[in-house]
Amino acid sequence: MNKSVIIIGGGLSGLTTAHLLKQKKYNVTIIEANSRLGGRIYTKKSKTGTLEMGATWLWKYNTKLLQLCNQLGIQLFEQCMDGDALFEAMSAHAPQRFQLPKNQEKSYRITNGTQEIISRLCKKFTKDEILLNEKVSAITLNSEIIDVTTNKSSYETDYVIATVPPQLLINSINFSPNLPEQLMNVAKKTHTWMNDSIKFAVAYKTPFWRAQKLSGVGFSNVGPFTELYDHSNAKETTFALMGFMNPNMVKENEDYRKEKIIQQLVKFFGAEATNYITYEDKPWRLDTSISTKSSEYLLPHQNNGHTLYQQSFFNSRLIISGSETSKKFGGYMEGAVERAYEVASMF
Ligand SMILES: Cc1cc2nc3c(=O)[nH]c(=O)nc-3n(C[C@H](O)[C@H](O)[C@H](O)COP(=O)(O)OP(=O)(O)OC[C@H]3O[C@@H](n4cnc5c(N)ncnc54)[C@H](O)[C@@H]3O)c2cc1C
Repeated sequence: MNKSVIIIGGGLSGLTTAHLLKQKKYNVTIIEANSRLGGRIYTKKSKTGTLEMGATWLWKYNTKLLQLCNQLGIQLFEQCMDGDALFEAMSAHAPQRFQLPKNQEKSYRITNGTQEIISRLCKKFTKDEILLNEKVSAITLNSEIIDVTTNKSSYETDYVIATVPPQLLINSINFSPNLPEQLMNVAKKTHTWMNDSIKFAVAYKTPFWRAQKLSGVGFSNVGPFTELYDHSNAKETTFALMGFMNPNMVKENEDYRKEKIIQQLVKFFGAEATNYITYEDKPWRLDTSISTKSSEYLLPHQNNGHTLYQQSFFNSRLIISGSETSKKFGGYMEGAVERAYEVASMF
């Protein structure tokens, strides 16, 4: 009989791992707490095009991710950076124009939105192999079998691969027997990339900033947005600006955030910025399937790829995976995929 593997988390890492193990003839089940797959990949689709609320860019050095995209037949396009950028140093002054360096590393986007990777991976599974809206609450080792308990049911399996970000994993799932104390201490202090970010996107009928020979790239010391980019689609049929805002704006409601972002866009690009079609934002701190309340300040990427994550637990039946456990690219999509290949090679 084929061995069974439960993969906790239907993000990029979980789905890639499940796909690789299915190719190796394991019986795979993906358990996902949310009603959608993708985790930190979240492309919002509307009549004004696709807007990335999560992961957006990849780079030529993301070899494993590019290999996966290639296998899945996914097309890429270059991030538009043509024109000058703006920098807002102080609230009393107009943003200053500057030239972007010509030799910077090019970044790429996925033509139909990053979610395309998820939807193409999803096609590799039967309906029974993906369980949505099931939040894992306990993992118990019973001699040679592992019991996985969710809010709906419980399942027996030979192996478990947990792709939930480590800090959330140990704060939301009970392990019996307890995980080693050293691992718990490291996981508690493992930074989850972008867990306090607020992404926003504003769609427009035209890319009016380009008429001023501006790239749409902006940086600000003042806020609420700190970084801004052109977010028009590959075919140049839908146009948008997208950026990150100060994480403190999580305390405000969406209407207030929208008002302040539009005001700042007017300061950057003029009155046309008020004629937007849609505004979307996502404060990831409020998403309990990624974030956990932690009062402690962690450095970006702290403990990502820690050597303890390279070990297995529960008599080699439990593996802690996901992007933050990747040694080289912890926190990024490349890390999620690299780790999936690494973990699958252990089977
Ligand atoms: C705003 C933002 C921008 C980003 N930009 C980029 C970028 O431009 N380039 C880049 O390379 N990376 C970027 N990233 C990072 C990238 O999205 C992640 O590295 C990658 O998607 C992580 O994949 P993962 O599968 O390891 O984890 P996740 O995507 O976090 O997946 C974990 C899954 O586990 C599920 N889960 C959690 N708890 C449970 C439970 N108890 N039971 C069952 N399921 C559970 C979650 O719902 C989630 O679906 C960005 C992230 C964000 C948030």
